[in-house]
Amino acid sequence: MCGIVGYIGNREAYPILIEGLSALEYRGYDSAGIALVDCGMVNVHKDKGKVDNLRTLTSDCPKPGFTGIAHTRWATHGAPSTINSHPHTDCQNRIAMVHNGIIENYSYLKDKLIKEGVEFVSETDSEVLAQLIGKYYSGDLVRAVRRALSEVEGTFGIAVVACDNPGVLVGARRGSPLVVGVGEEELLLASDASAIVRHTKKVIYLKDNNLIELKNGEYNTTTLDNKKIKPEIHRLEWDADALAKGGFEHFMLKEIFEQPETIKNAMRGRILADDGIARLDGLNLVFQELREINRIIFVACGTSWHAALVGEYMIEELTGIPVEVEYASEFRYRNPIIDSHTLVFVISQSGETADTLAALREAAHKGATVLGICNSVGSTIARETQGGVYLHAGPEIGVASTKAFTSQLTILSLLTLLLGRMRRISHSEGMTIARALQNIPKQVAKILKQNDHIRQIADIYANHNNFLYLGRSYNFPVALEGALKLKEISYVHAEGYPAAEMKHGPIALIDKDMPSVVLALKDSVYDKVISNIQEINARGGKVIAIASEGDKEIEKFVHHVIYIPKTLAMLSPLLSVIPLQLLAYHIAAFRGCEIDQPRNLAKSVTVE
Ligand code: GLU
Repeated sequence: MCGIVGYIGNREAYPILIEGLSALEYRGYDSAGIALVDCGMVNVHKDKGKVDNLRTLTSDCPKPGFTGIAHTRWATHGAPSTINSHPHTDCQNRIAMVHNGIIENYSYLKDKLIKEGVEFVSETDSEVLAQLIGKYYSGDLVRAVRRALSEVEGTFGIAVVACDNPGVLVGARRGSPLVVGVGEEELLLASDASAIVRHTKKVIYLKDNNLIELKNGEYNTTTLDNKKIKPEIHRLEWDADALAKGGFEHFMLKEIFEQPETIKNAMRGRILADDGIARLDGLNLVFQELREINRIIFVACGTSWHAALVGEYMIEELTGIPVEVEYASEFRYRNPIIDSHTLVFVISQSGETADTLAALREAAHKGATVLGICNSVGSTIARETQGGVYLHAGPEIGVASTKAFTSQLTILSLLTLLLGRMRRISHSEGMTIARALQNIPKQVAKILKQNDHIRQIADIYANHNNFLYLGRSYNFPVALEGALKLKEISYVHAEGYPAAEMKHGPIALIDKDMPSVVLALKDSVYDKVISNIQEINARGGKVIAIASEGDKEIEKFVHHVIYIPKTLAMLSPLLSVIPLQLLAYHIAAFRGCEIDQPRNLAKSVTVE
């Protein structure tokens, strides 16, 4: 998920690697490290914190070597700490490796290696791969990497060096990106071309399941099962700044487009589709308690609070457990009733939200079991809860949350499946939910293809100053989230309501200048929503509908339609929110707003 840089050539590797890490700094990360090969040794320098920290740490020591690898970590397994930082080495210190991604079967492989006498120093999944490569290394690095990778499951982008082979650097990937920069008598390897562009514009994009050996200014590419490949050389056209955003104009847009991948990451290794069950290892410690609870309280703020509302609908419908959703800032100051069968779940992208943290502590004082759903590994909330689930969405840089929201919904669906299978969900219903969830990333990708269509609608309405967002049932929280996105980044006044509530007040606002965005999917409340649309029409209001694919009828009643694929009602927010994110983005872009850093807002709200 985070950054890799590798160098092999006729210049000192250290300055190139450290500058490469700085170029990857925009991704947000929690630790950094470097390994240099020199005089038959691999010398590793690493620490938690920023690249500047690593710079200071290494400022007084010699850093010789023409071959090296470097990493910025965004922890998934094990808290951000010096020992968990990459590079990792094998126990004889013969090889060093950096890794992006997740080794899913690390626990099985680790147990096996421990039985063989290997001593582990970190809590990471990555060290397992380093130890495995070390185990198979006897002078031929490519062979050892290939053999080790044949045993791992999951995703990886790796760079590996060996102490007695200063002229060789090996890279391989599955799921995590790797780019090779081809320079004059030097080669670079990176997870992102922004770390390469200053040195060369000639690059090779390594494909999934490919391995590359960089040796004496030359490269040799094969598949992981050793079939020769002739890679294509591309020319980088972007400047370094555009590259950081992957060619997108803003981080927010990049993050919206990452969602097919981040949703997949949130469910990776957590669904057993044939058994119709979800596996959430972070909840293992409280597994028994989950069977016994009879009430859940979700505590969150902002977008996470909206995700929690969707969670309430899902869990109540499919498990029968009563759920309450609380604003963290309110929960902490009232005197919430928590008994021994109440489970408290706190939800926060950053894991540092001050109000949520205070609410967590209040619940803990009352003796509640408190679990967390957050994105940042090792964050305060992750540390202070008794268990929880990580989103694995990668760093979210745009201030307005997008990919973290859909990852939270994914985790809440998995939680519903887990709790439901302990109670009312049958095997076959479980399978239906699991399969529908696995289908979501492809369906999100399909919605993203309508970006231009949504942009055209945004163009028509960009000058309007008031919007209403309406939805019912599972899509009521989506209406709230759509309105929040628009407010946050375009400074347009928008209100989200349950569609039926419109007639109890907001209908007074409707006229030709107040468009309504209505979530009108073909579900149990479809006919009711159509009636609400008619009420808007009768008052001259314009309607932009988010509708189910195939519903041609709705075109008769509304001014614009954005279609989304069909899925189960409980999963529909994962799809229906995507057009609303894009609509808010494009309206803000047309209005010339600072999309990634909207005025008055901060990414991680660490004040009350
Ligand atoms: N899973 C690895 C870890 O937790 C790599 C994380 C990353 O991609 O930065 O150390």
